[in-house]
Amino acid sequence: MTLYAPQYYKQFTCIADRCRHSCCIGWEIDIDDVTLQKYAALPSDCGICLSGTIEQGETPHFRLCEGERCPHLNSTGLCNLILTLGEDYLCDICREHPRFYHRSSCGMEVGLGMACEEACRLILSSEDYTTLVPIEALEDPLEQPPSADGFDTATVRSQLYSLLSDHSRPYADRLRDISLAYHVTPTMRSDREWQALLDTLEYLDPAHKALFSHYTSAPSAGCGKEVLTERALAYWIFRHCSAAYDEDELRAALGFCLLCERLLASLLDAADASDITAAVPLARIISEELEYSEDNTDRLKLAFFEA
Ligand code: SF4
Repeated sequence: MTLYAPQYYKQFTCIADRCRHSCCIGWEIDIDDVTLQKYAALPSDCGICLSGTIEQGETPHFRLCEGERCPHLNSTGLCNLILTLGEDYLCDICREHPRFYHRSSCGMEVGLGMACEEACRLILSSEDYTTLVPIEALEDPLEQPPSADGFDTATVRSQLYSLLSDHSRPYADRLRDISLAYHVTPTMRSDREWQALLDTLEYLDPAHKALFSHYTSAPSAGCGKEVLTERALAYWIFRHCSAAYDEDELRAALGFCLLCERLLASLLDAADASDITAAVPLARIISEELEYSEDNTDRLKLAFFEA
């Protein structure tokens, strides 16, 4: 089986000490069994002290330090584990982040999560979001639930991309075509209802709750901004629609994607900005707060199921 990825995937390299929102700050990092055994087998003079930094228990993880920093993130923003032992000693989560995997009707696919600022910059600056390229042959495909028999997410996704990328038509018309084709739109609920729902979600940073109150389903149109929201929407479609199990799940996932797109456009409006420098932090925040919280994603998708 071949693993496929969006074209920009191969350009990704972690920017490490230049990253302003390091994934080594604020997240609890679970340690997988194989890596835990590797750590246990290290000699005491290996150059790094690991034992005091691991919280044992049902799911062993690194004990965060002041400022919620990973204990192995040094003051220059680099990882002491890599510097001392090499990348082979990273646990699965650290090695894989910001990658995510799913099985579409095409096979296994990998993408880059937008909560990583470098991934977000690549996603919003890449013109071609429709092409998937082979990355590697998988001998032992990752275990994922298969798509339902007969539900062809690859064809759905290429229909969505062909509507979205038809630059002969105004952007608003392309969004409307997508909504009409799949019977889902954020305007199924009023702006006030969405604002109320966004207000009740869980937030990593409470300031983002106030930021998301700027949501409107009808932000102003703007050429520069629309190129960026189009690419963000294509990413959300890749991540959330590709692995849909059936029509209902696809509809809820697409509703979630369209809502995220309107939220990004609203936040750019509120900031009176339409360039990639402004869009990257805003798209990253939406991803971090809405996509990287399973509860928040589920509650927003559910709102489309119930609409
Ligand atoms: S968020 Fe992305 S760029 Fe930043 S440290 Fe993590 S992987 Fe690297």
